[in-house]
Amino acid sequence: MTKDAQAAMRTTADQSRHPNLWPPFTQIESAPLPQRVIAGDGALLLREQGIPLIDAISSWWVTLHGHGHPVMAKAIADQAARLEQVIFADFTHEPAERLGERLSKLTGLDRLFFSDNGSTAVEVALKIACQWWVNRGEPRHQIVAFDGAYHGDTFGAMAVGERNLFSEPFDDKLFPVARCPWPATWWDDPDVDAREQAALAVLETTLQQPTAAVILEPLLQGAGGMAMVRGTFLRQVEMLVRQAGALLIADEVLTGFGRCGDWFACHRAGIQPDLMALSKGLTGGCLPMGVTMASERVFSAFVGADPSLTLWHGHSFTANPLGCAAANASLDLLQQDPDQFRGFEARHRPHLEQLRAHPNVTRCRLTGTVAAFDLSVSGDAGYLNPAGPTIKRIALEHGVFLRPLGQVVYLLPPLCISNDQLGQCYKAIATALDQI
Ligand SMILES: *Cc1c(COP(=O)(O)O)cnc(C)c1O
Repeated sequence: MTKDAQAAMRTTADQSRHPNLWPPFTQIESAPLPQRVIAGDGALLLREQGIPLIDAISSWWVTLHGHGHPVMAKAIADQAARLEQVIFADFTHEPAERLGERLSKLTGLDRLFFSDNGSTAVEVALKIACQWWVNRGEPRHQIVAFDGAYHGDTFGAMAVGERNLFSEPFDDKLFPVARCPWPATWWDDPDVDAREQAALAVLETTLQQPTAAVILEPLLQGAGGMAMVRGTFLRQVEMLVRQAGALLIADEVLTGFGRCGDWFACHRAGIQPDLMALSKGLTGGCLPMGVTMASERVFSAFVGADPSLTLWHGHSFTANPLGCAAANASLDLLQQDPDQFRGFEARHRPHLEQLRAHPNVTRCRLTGTVAAFDLSVSGDAGYLNPAGPTIKRIALEHGVFLRPLGQVVYLLPPLCISNDQLGQCYKAIATALDQI
């Protein structure tokens, strides 16, 4: 393309939407125009126009160490020069083997199955769980999930997720799932014990049906509104799941790799799942990759002379070497300084404590790097509540990129964010709160 053509295209795109792109989760009729980003630097996004923005949601919860991290960039570039991709059925490679060993140690789950993103990591976990029972000759059909869950946008992941506006056109195609209440809690929540007991009672009754698997997001439901539960609740859930002989699937696509203040939310809660889905921060948020971790007990049911025992599943980019190299580099960074994620909660706390006094703030909550509260404003409490976009717009003017989930405002910044930048995020939120 000539320079003139490039310039012409740029001008057009600056004034309207690009005619060839279909953005995710966006109604282009009403959404503001997207802004062209030219670079990322640590916690900052640098735009073609306007002041730098603090990426306070880690670019949809993926960016772990910050943008343009030199260690990540070098690891990916070095790997690209050596081996960018190879079929993983007949071949293996060092970056995948190294990642397998490290993730097995970190998760306590011996086997790693690669896919491409969080949704596929969940799909694979569900398929493994169902086939595990078939392979054992005692098929079980019931899958249990929690109210408010989000597990991804492919059909299987949608089926276990909360049914809502987004899944409605497909509801007739989604397999049935039994639901239990999710006793989300917050600071100064007087009724949490009662809600947990009620949820456990429903789970116990539900598990009287033979159950293949129970799937949950440990400690924190992300898309469901940064809805946090206590570790004690999860330990009781695990006990009931064990009593019922069902498999426990932990969807740690969001919560893994330090986001919840420990390596994995399961560790912090004190539970040990049979299957774990990972993605997002897996590659430091640099490349798309998903993995499903499985216990050796689960894996062993797929081994034998009968071909029908095989997990007949795979993706073109299985164990992509670039993704593996990025994941190994990200683990290096996390292992060099685990206090960065362990200590993050303490950095949020004084700011959130100050915000909680604001009349428009309710239900403050905090787990690891994730801080959230609800706007106490009138109107629809769902994803489309208009107060969220107002907060978002005002924060943008103050150099902070937020993306509230309906009435839920949250910060989920990359680990590299400085104290000043974190302070700026809270200040922008406070300013926005004063204006609604
Ligand atoms: C984002 C997310 C997914 C889906 O991951 P994608 O990479 O977007 O497919 C699944 N589960 C949880 C908990 C998530 O937050």
